Amino acid sequence: MAVKDRIYIKDLEIIAYHGVLKAEKELGQRFFISLEIQTDFREAGKNDDLTKTISYAEVCDDIEKIFLTAKYNLIEKCAEEIAEFLLEKYSRISELKVKIKKPWAPIRKAIDHVAVEIVRKRHKAYISLGSNIGDKEKNLNMVLEEIKKISGTQIKKVSGFLITKPFGYTEQDDFLNAAAELETLLMPEELLKELLAVEQKLGRVREIKWGPRLIDLDILIFDDEVIDEENLTIPHPWMSERMFVLEPFAEIAPNVVHPLSRKRIRELKNELEKNI
Ligand code: ATP
Ligand code: CA
Ligand code: CA
Repeated sequence: MAVKDRIYIKDLEIIAYHGVLKAEKELGQRFFISLEIQTDFREAGKNDDLTKTISYAEVCDDIEKIFLTAKYNLIEKCAEEIAEFLLEKYSRISELKVKIKKPWAPIRKAIDHVAVEIVRKRHKAYISLGSNIGDKEKNLNMVLEEIKKISGTQIKKVSGFLITKPFGYTEQDDFLNAAAELETLLMPEELLKELLAVEQKLGRVREIKWGPRLIDLDILIFDDEVIDEENLTIPHPWMSERMFVLEPFAEIAPNVVHPLSRKRIRELKNELEKNI
């Protein structure tokens, strides 16, 4: 069961140099930073063990460093930087709320303060990988290497590589398919953009030699999001009809629930097997 414990840091005051105006970057002003950290410190609570929670002293030092090493125009940017840094550094943080108050915002109005607040969290995404041109195993391995470089994104699991017969146009070489579990700080649209860039990067390199289509990366599931945009549909609309998707997916995540059919991946695979 997911525990949702929270650590609060309220109004850490730092004199810093963020702001659109030149004067703000020179004179500096007061900022107040508050955090709401969602984590699981049940074990720390039971055993009185600092290593099983997050040190708020260390987090305050981190914030101070981020806040003082750059001069940003916007407190929105400061909030993003803090959220990204902390989520990358502390794997125990599952979700994070960052609020930045700026009481001396130079807007010639009498206000108590202006503030921004953002909530950021880790997402779980499942993707499918496929290749049917050239050295397919090498292609898939290269794709995985490229995915590792995507900012704020980690590969958590990879299925075995599965040789499958082509689907649709049978006049082509067999495919090598796989599925992977990613943890990412990106939004679905941002992840898609990165994956398409990986496709392009590897595709372009080989375009001259092997032809255009040697890598296919699809987002299958992203948390329990349901998205129906012009360039992005999640869950992937055909995943439940494709054994070359369900087989590797079921290998790494049999118990993940499809957000529309509410069926587990293992169940979808078993049903498709019966229907073939
Ligand atoms: P299929 O969707 O049947 O697997 P495909 O993968 O061969 O087809 P592509 O030509 O690779 O299709 O992709 C075309 C476009 O599909 C992409 O540019 C992307 O914008 C869009 N798209 C929509 N939903 C997704 C998704 N879940 N994952 C990846 N791309 C998607
Ligand atoms: Ca596809
Ligand atoms: Ca695709």
